[in-house]
Amino acid sequence: MTTPFLETPIEFLKGVGPSRSDLLKKELNIHTFGELLTFFPFRYVDRSKFYQIADIRDDHSFIQIKAKIVHIQTIGAAHHQRLVATVRDDSGEIDLVWFQGVKWVLDMLSPQQEYVIFGKPGIFNGRWNIPHPELEIPTTQPLPLNEVIRPIYNSTEKLKSKGLDFKGIGKLVRTILLHEKFIMHESLTPEIMQRLRLINRQEAFVNIHFPQSPELLKKAQTRLKFEELFYIQLRLAKQRYGRLLKHEGHQFLKVGDYVNQFYHHHLTFALTNAQKRVIKEIRADLGSGNQMNRLLQGDVGSGKTLVALMTMLIALDNQFQSCLMAPTEILARQHYNTISGMLTGLNVVVKLLTGSTKAAERREIQAGLHAGTVHLLIGTHALIEENVKFKHLGLVVIDEQHRFGVAQRAKLWEKNVVTPHILVMTATPIPRTLAMTLYGDLDTSIIDEMPPGRKPIVTRHVYEPGRGKVFRFIRDKISEGRQVYIVFPLIQESETLDLKNLIDGYQSIILEFPPPQFSVSMVHGQMKQQEKDLEMKRFLERETQIMVATTVIEVGVDVPNASVMVIENAERFGLSQLHQLRGRVGRGDDQSFCILMSSYELSAEARKRLSTMVRTNDGFEIAETDLQLRGPGDLQGTQQSGIMDLRIADIVKDEKILKYARNVANEIISTDPALSKNENDILALHLRNMDQKQQNWGLIS
Ligand code: ADP
Ligand code: MG
Repeated sequence: MTTPFLETPIEFLKGVGPSRSDLLKKELNIHTFGELLTFFPFRYVDRSKFYQIADIRDDHSFIQIKAKIVHIQTIGAAHHQRLVATVRDDSGEIDLVWFQGVKWVLDMLSPQQEYVIFGKPGIFNGRWNIPHPELEIPTTQPLPLNEVIRPIYNSTEKLKSKGLDFKGIGKLVRTILLHEKFIMHESLTPEIMQRLRLINRQEAFVNIHFPQSPELLKKAQTRLKFEELFYIQLRLAKQRYGRLLKHEGHQFLKVGDYVNQFYHHHLTFALTNAQKRVIKEIRADLGSGNQMNRLLQGDVGSGKTLVALMTMLIALDNQFQSCLMAPTEILARQHYNTISGMLTGLNVVVKLLTGSTKAAERREIQAGLHAGTVHLLIGTHALIEENVKFKHLGLVVIDEQHRFGVAQRAKLWEKNVVTPHILVMTATPIPRTLAMTLYGDLDTSIIDEMPPGRKPIVTRHVYEPGRGKVFRFIRDKISEGRQVYIVFPLIQESETLDLKNLIDGYQSIILEFPPPQFSVSMVHGQMKQQEKDLEMKRFLERETQIMVATTVIEVGVDVPNASVMVIENAERFGLSQLHQLRGRVGRGDDQSFCILMSSYELSAEARKRLSTMVRTNDGFEIAETDLQLRGPGDLQGTQQSGIMDLRIADIVKDEKILKYARNVANEIISTDPALSKNENDILALHLRNMDQKQQNWGLIS
C-alpha cells in the first residue's frame, strides 16, 4: 500500500520549488515523493576504485581517475573561451575541459596538484577528454562505508541547468528517505521473502539509493528486480488462468471441404515440416473448446500467410467467418491479392476493407458480413470501426502485430460475446525472455524452417566511397532483368525534413539512372493511397526497375523479381528494421543481395548492428543481439506492453530472476487463482494499487 506521505506532490519536497517541480514532471514524469523514489540510479561508482587513463574507451559513462595536473591553458576569445587542463596518471594523459565558468575554475585549479576526478569521458576535436568534471583533493582518510558507493542518476540538460544533476537528484531522494514519515509498505508475502531470501522493501529502497555496502546494494537490486518481474508475471498468470476458466472458445472440430479442396487441389507446393507442426498446434487449440490466443513467430518469408489461410479455412469449415488485419493498406491489399488468388475456384467470398474503400462498397461489405455471406475479411484497422459487425466471427488473424496498438486490439475484442480465436503473426522474432514477459499469456508457435530452395541473402556493408561500385552492380543486375529497392531512412514519416532527404535521394538516383534506359518509382508515407498503389503496381509489373522508398515497404511486400536491397544511411535503422527490409529480397529463385550504405563515422553500436547483419540471416540471432544492444525499451512492440516501464529489471541480464518470478507467480495462481486467501492479501492489494495507476488492457496481449 502506498502511504499518503509517498503520494505527496513533489513540489512539497524541501528543495523543490515550482520551477524544479515543473521540470521533474516534464522531464522525468515524477509527480510525487513515491515516484521520485522509484527513479532509481542507473549506475553506481565505487569511490574507492580508480580508472587508469589508458583504459578509457568510448563505452564508459561516468568514471573516476586519480591524476595530477600537468598543463593548464585557455583557448579561444572571450565569449567562446574554454579551459583545458591536461592531467596525467601512471598510464597516460587526458584533457579536462570547461566551456563555462572558465575564470572561476582557473582560480580553483592548482598546477601539479593531484585530484580525484569524476566525470564522463567524450571525444572533442578527435581527442579524449572529460568535459566539466568534478574535482576533489584526495584524502588519506578512508571514506565512511555508506559513502563509498555513489549513486548516479540520469539527468537532462534542462534539469542540470536547475541544479538537478545526478548529485542534485540524489540530494532530493535523500531528503525523502530521511524524513520522519518515510515508510515503505511491504509488497511481498513473508513466505516468498523467506524462500528467496529477499530483504524487505524499506531496506531495499534505502539501499538502492544509498547503498550501505556492496552486499546490501546487491540484495536491494535482487529484491526490487524480483518484485518488478513478479508482479508482471502474477498479472499474466491471473489472466491466463482466467482465460482457461472461461471455456468460452468456439469449438472447431471439423476439417471439411474447404480445407481438403485447398490442400489437395490448390496448393502448388508441399508444406514445410515446421508449417505442418504449427498447423497441428493450431488445430489442437481450435478443437479444445477454449479460446485460442496464439503467437505465430516465423522469419520473413517462412510462410506464415499460408498457415493463416489454412486456419481461416478451418474456421470456414465450421461455418465461421474470419478476418485478417494488416498494419498498412499496401499490405492488406497484397494479402487480399495473394489470398484471393490462392482461393480461386473455391467457393470462398473474400473482401478487402480499408480506409479508402468507397462508401457504397463499404456498405455492401458490411451487409455481407452481417448476413454471413462474406466469409473472409481482409483489411487494416478500418476493420475494427464500430459499424463492422460479423454474423459469426470465429477467428481474428493479426499480421505484423507490432504496428497495432494494444488498445486497437482490445476494441476488436469487445465486439463479440464469445471471444474469437486470435492468431497473432510476427516476422520479428522475439527472444525467449522477451516473449515470456510480453506474451506471457499467449501460447507460442514457431516456424523455424524456410521453404526449400531459398538462397541466403548476401549482405555487404559499403562505405560512401564505394558508391560508384554499388551503382555499377545495380546496373549489372538490372541488365540481367532484376529489380532493385533503394531505401532511405524516414524515421518520422510526417517530418518534412526527412521527406526532403528522400526526394533529394530520388533525384540523385534518377540522375544516375536516367530515362529512357531506366525508370524509377518512388513510394513514401505522405503519398496518396492511389499514387502509392500505382507505383507499387508499376514496380510489380516490371515497368520500373528501381523502387526508391521509405520503410513503408518494410513489411510484407512481395516482389520476387527484386533481388537487390540497398539501404541508405543504414546506421540510422534499428536491427529488426534492417532485417525486415532485407526480407523484401530473397523471395525469388535468384541470388539476392543486401547492401548497407554508411559513412565511415559510426558509433560502436551502429557498427555492431551492421556487422551482425553482414554475419547472419537468422532472425532469432538478430533479435537477441538487438535486445542486448538496445534493451527491450526500444524494440518494436514493447511500447504498450508495460515492459517499457521496467524500472530496474533487465530481461536479458535478469533471466534467472525472471524465471523464479514466473515460477512463483504460477505456483501461487494455481493454488489461489483469485488471490482470495488471507495469506495472499498483500499480493492482491498491491496488484490492485498497481492496476489503479496503470491502465491494463487485459486479455489481448
Ligand atoms: P511470411 O508471411 O512468413 O513472410 P509468406 O507467407 O509471405 O511468408 O511466404 C513467402 C513466400 O513463400 C510466398 O511466396 C509463399 O507462397 C511461399 N511459400 C510459403 N510456404 C511455402 C512452402 N511450404 N514451400 C514453398 N513455398 C512456400
Ligand atoms: Mg507476411
